[in-house]
Amino acid sequence: MTAELPVYLDHNATTPPLPAVVAEMLDVLQHVWANPSSTHAAGQAARGVLADARLRVARFLGCQPAEVVFTSGATEANHMAVLGALAARPERRRLLMSAVEHPGLLALARRLHDEGTAELALIPVDRHGRLDLHAARALMGPDVALVSVMGANNETGVVQPVAEVAVLAQACGAWMHVDATQLAGKAPLSFADSGVQMMSVSAHKLGGPKGVGALLLRKGLVLPPLLSGRQERQRRGGTENLPGIVGFAAACEQAGRTLAQQIVVLWSLRDRLERGLMQALPQVHVYGAGAERLANTSCLRFGELPAEQVLDRLERAGVLASSGAACSAGGTQPSHVLLAMGESPQRARMGVRLSLGLHTTPLDIAHTLRAAAQALGPLLQVRPALAQEQPLAESTP
Ligand code: PMP
Repeated sequence: MTAELPVYLDHNATTPPLPAVVAEMLDVLQHVWANPSSTHAAGQAARGVLADARLRVARFLGCQPAEVVFTSGATEANHMAVLGALAARPERRRLLMSAVEHPGLLALARRLHDEGTAELALIPVDRHGRLDLHAARALMGPDVALVSVMGANNETGVVQPVAEVAVLAQACGAWMHVDATQLAGKAPLSFADSGVQMMSVSAHKLGGPKGVGALLLRKGLVLPPLLSGRQERQRRGGTENLPGIVGFAAACEQAGRTLAQQIVVLWSLRDRLERGLMQALPQVHVYGAGAERLANTSCLRFGELPAEQVLDRLERAGVLASSGAACSAGGTQPSHVLLAMGESPQRARMGVRLSLGLHTTPLDIAHTLRAAAQALGPLLQVRPALAQEQPLAESTP
């Protein structure tokens, strides 16, 4: 038996929709297409399906149904949290964020800072990617509107000490937001127990559809809406994306059933992958290995090889992965996450992320190990400066 090619190891970018998700979404598209705000029977039936989906999502995320505000995804939820917190308490102007937040969230905060709407302070991380709690404590103050720390990092999988930061935020009256996009569906999560006021999640990271997610908003907290309208208790206007929301609910339900078992399986597959790579290619470095990490994520550097080159060779050998570094017209930008962990700009362009998922098999890992050894081994034998000129290694089919 061989692995089914290509081997998809990019689950932190997005996951394939689960069959149960597709089936439920198709059913809603075909049969429950009325507007949940319509007062006729068809509208009321749609409203019932929406309420049921909200309950299923809330059950999985450990919150009350009324605390779920459905959005177009985590990017929108992150914007709601930041802009809402600043608008709700205009006397507080400072935003505290970890230096490794998602680029969309950091870009928003930087824009607000540059416009003079808010002041942004970044909380550093250590070389393992863990938030520096001493620095966080020193940055707290009565002018802080929102502290935003991600549950787990999308590039390295490093899990952040959210509960500890929540205590610090509470002591100075700041609200706290957690971008839990990578945590939901990969680690146990309870909004009720988290001690934070807001949490962002996205359906497509756990087997649901793209373009739908939620901001969990602590009961009693009122934020001026980003999109005005009557839906979602006046917290987010726009006709609800019912097929997407139902797909999200189906994904949550399946994750609730399989999560514990999945974590065990993913730990062992990821462990096999990292050990195998380091055995075959001693130049491999694993980022975040000294910190608590998600079970599915491996962020690696292959000697001094640029990420683009590694990804190109892996793809030709039938393995799909990603780099944390952003691509622009002018070339690859260094990963802000690896820079924050103390890497040089050159090395921060070398991070390659292999992220496993529900359907990853031992055969996929075996294929990846063979592909990496054959496609990258010869490149790692030569001096880094010559690596670009090395002829292509024979790839497996
Ligand atoms: N935050 C994190 C940590 C993410 O990984 C992502 C997706 N890459 C987002 C936010 C954005 O999510 P969405 O695609 O739902 O807008």
